Parts: sequence; structure tokens; C-alpha cells
Amino acid sequence: MANMIKSEKIWMNGEFVAWDDAKVHVLSHVLHYGSSVFEGIRAYSTRNGTAIFRLGEHIERLMNSAKIYRMKSQFSAEQIERACLETVAVNGLKECYIRPLVYRGYAHVGVNPVGTPIDTMIAAYPWGKYLGDDALTKGVAVKIGTWARMAPNTLPALAKAGGNYLNSQLLKLEAIEDGYAEAIALDTHGLVSEGSGENLFAVVKGELVTPPVSSSILAGITRASVLRLARDLGYNVREAPIPRELLYIADELFFSGTAVEVTPITSVDRVVVASGERGPVTKAIQDAFFGIVTGDLPDRYGWLTPVPQGAAKRK
Ligand code: PMP
Repeated sequence: MANMIKSEKIWMNGEFVAWDDAKVHVLSHVLHYGSSVFEGIRAYSTRNGTAIFRLGEHIERLMNSAKIYRMKSQFSAEQIERACLETVAVNGLKECYIRPLVYRGYAHVGVNPVGTPIDTMIAAYPWGKYLGDDALTKGVAVKIGTWARMAPNTLPALAKAGGNYLNSQLLKLEAIEDGYAEAIALDTHGLVSEGSGENLFAVVKGELVTPPVSSSILAGITRASVLRLARDLGYNVREAPIPRELLYIADELFFSGTAVEVTPITSVDRVVVASGERGPVTKAIQDAFFGIVTGDLPDRYGWLTPVPQGAAKRK
């Protein structure tokens, strides 16, 4: 049984269809070979109405993911951006998660992707806090997963592709089975990479450190936002390889991502990080981040795209 909160309509290849009618054929290429690229985006209810966080950057990453896999959407970045705004508006959503997906559709079953149609869909639906309501203040306990992130010459980590999430699922399943909120993967060199669906920051002697893109990470848009906010708050920031044991002795650790936003990590492999409570740097980054997405602080970087509510319920 589906347990997600439905909205009314889903955008499929340029048309709105009823949520329950948004279906694909079981012989679609994507279903057999993981051939999709996608995004996860949040729209926030701000003081000034509903707005989508860093829409342009998300759609740019979607187009780049598609480029890596030689998938040409029939829709331009501008059209997909507009469709995201319309999907939020049409469903009358104030705050939601937005999921655009570009995928290889139904033509033939065979690994060769040439000749498969490239379909595009966008759904928007309500979604709460990813790691539970307390996670943002109390933090989460994580472990180092036994599965490594894919090596750079196996699957391209910079593409946010469906198939990559088989690796994420193994990590997440292991975390849950072992009683943790999340697992952090090492890369195939043994250095820290990222969580199953989020990037990682360590605070060491007042400086923020995060693994570089060469550590098989997805280049997170929240990660880029944290780097910017931290710099502007006066912290030193560094993208540098992180050995596993640095996580045990760091002053603070936190995850960044669309789903987790900015979530403190309070232990790794049951080794407590510093005092085991959210640290002051993490709190300062959270305040800056949530200040912008709630509209309590000015949108000084132009990160919010307002959803034109007048357009709602058009179709
Ligand atoms: N890494 C992985 C594997 C992810 O799935 C995500 C979520 N998209 C992130 C990092 C964080 O990226 P973002 O901040 O763009 O959501």
C-alpha cells in the first residue's frame, strides 16, 4: 500500500495527468536497467509565499546528468523549470518535495539504450523531515557502511542517476538493520565519501571540511549552499579528503542535502562526536539556512524562485 501523501496531478511529457493515472509500461527500459536521471527539490512556505529552493541549479544538474548518459529530453531547462513551478501551483501546495525524472521509456527490452524514447515527468507532494522530527536539533547516530561508494570508473557519481541508488539502498538497508539512522560510505580508496543521500561536513578546529568531488560524491546543491553560507559567516572552508577516523575526533559533524537539510551527526560507529550534542557551528549554519528558506532572513543570494500562485488549478 502506498503511504505517501498524494497530490492531484503529475506532469508527464508536457501534460498534467491525474496522480493515479501517471503510469509507465512494465517493459520500459528504465525499469530493467535503472536508466533515469532525476532531482529532488524542496519548495518552502516562506513569509512571502511558496518558493522553490535553487530551482535553476537543480535543473542544471538534471540536464548535466542527462548529458552524461546521452539522454536528450524533449524539454529545455527553462521548460522544465516552468513545469516544476506549475506542478507546485496546480496542486495548490504550500510546502512540498518536487521530483523531476527523465527516463528511458518503452520501445524494446535490451541493454542498448539507442532508440528508446526519453520521457520526462514531474511530481510534487507533501513531505516532512527525512530523518524524523527531532533529527534537526538532536542529531542522528550513523555508521560507516560496509559497502563503498562506486569507484569513479564504474558509475559516474556526478550524475544523479537512478542506478546509483542501488548502492544507496544497500547502505540505507544496512544502517536500518543495524539500528542507525544513516550510513556513510567510504570511496574505493577508503576515504570518506557521503551518506546514502546526503553530503557530509566535519568541523575541525573551527574550520569546515567536506570531501571533494573526486571522493565519488554527488555535488550537492545544499553542500554548495553550506560552503557559501559558512564562508560568508567568516569560517574557513576546505574541500579535502577525509580519513574515517577524523570523523571520530571531529568537533562537529553534520549532513547536508535537500532531504536532510542541515542535520547534526552525534555519533559514528557508536563513537560519540565531541559532547554528543548539536555543535555551535552546525547551529550557526542551520540558522543561516533556515533563515533564508523561511523568509525570516533576506534571500541575499537569489536562491528562492517564487511559485506564482495565480497559476494554480489551471488544468
Ligand atoms: N548525495 C547523494 C547521493 C544524494 O542523493 C543527495 C541528494 N540529492 C545529496 C548528496 C545531496 O544533494 P543535494 O544537496 O543537492 O540534495
